[in-house]
Amino acid sequence: MKKKNLLHKNWEEAFYWEGCPLCFLVQKSIRGYMENFLYESINDPNIRRIIREKGGFCEIHFLQLTTFRDLLGISIILEDLIKNFVLPNLIKKEVPKVKSCIFCEKEEEYEKMYILSLNDILKDQESFQLWKDYAYDFCKPHKEKIKSLSSELYKKIEPFENVKKRKYPEYYYKSFYWEKDYSELFLKKLRIMEFKRLK
Ligand SMILES: [Zn+2]
Ligand SMILES: [Zn+2]
Repeated sequence: MKKKNLLHKNWEEAFYWEGCPLCFLVQKSIRGYMENFLYESINDPNIRRIIREKGGFCEIHFLQLTTFRDLLGISIILEDLIKNFVLPNLIKKEVPKVKSCIFCEKEEEYEKMYILSLNDILKDQESFQLWKDYAYDFCKPHKEKIKSLSSELYKKIEPFENVKKRKYPEYYYKSFYWEKDYSELFLKKLRIMEFKRLK
């Protein structure tokens, strides 16, 4: 029997998640990435320069970062941003704006990696059966992503669209693997607001 690689195992784990399996994988990965970032990259001058150039983080990822409660790490980043990005801009009478966010970029990378790997994984009969029997439906934003990135994969999942379990209201806006905690509930609320704005 073919040995399953890590991506394959991750996907099979996600098929048991009660919600969009891709949200589960992406959020799990981004949380791991953030944890690494907080514990290892805060003092890396190169990464700090990149963050300054991008103008910090988007609102959602900044809030997500605070859920780790690493106040020292966050203070170091904020001090750097205020001193070397916000103030110099204000002095020039320019409103400092976030241009892009390293976590948004990473999230996209993860999404792409997982979507592109799923097509092959579902060619494995056993994995396909597992997906068919257990996995919840993909959330709407992820279904759109799948459609645009791999039409072959989309064709494979589309016939099961109406029989798959869905978790509401997450089905509409992305479900998150959050711990139960106020700041995280707040993030969910932000997502709902964002979704309403998009409509
Ligand atoms: Zn999703
Ligand atoms: Zn972001």
